[in-house]
Amino acid sequence: MYKCSRCKEPVRSSGMNTVGMQCEKCGSKVFYKERPNVRKSVQSR
Ligand SMILES: [Zn+2]
Repeated sequence: MYKCSRCKEPVRSSGMNTVGMQCEKCGSKVFYKERPNVRKSVQSR
């Protein structure tokens, strides 16, 4: 489970990566894994 870093909306990933993913709400492509201590933002380049 990933969460949008902008609107904090939970985003369902179809695979194990976030490449090509896009938030359906705000259109952001930056997500972070929903974990208490891990805040690793994933940015698609
Ligand atoms: Zn969003």
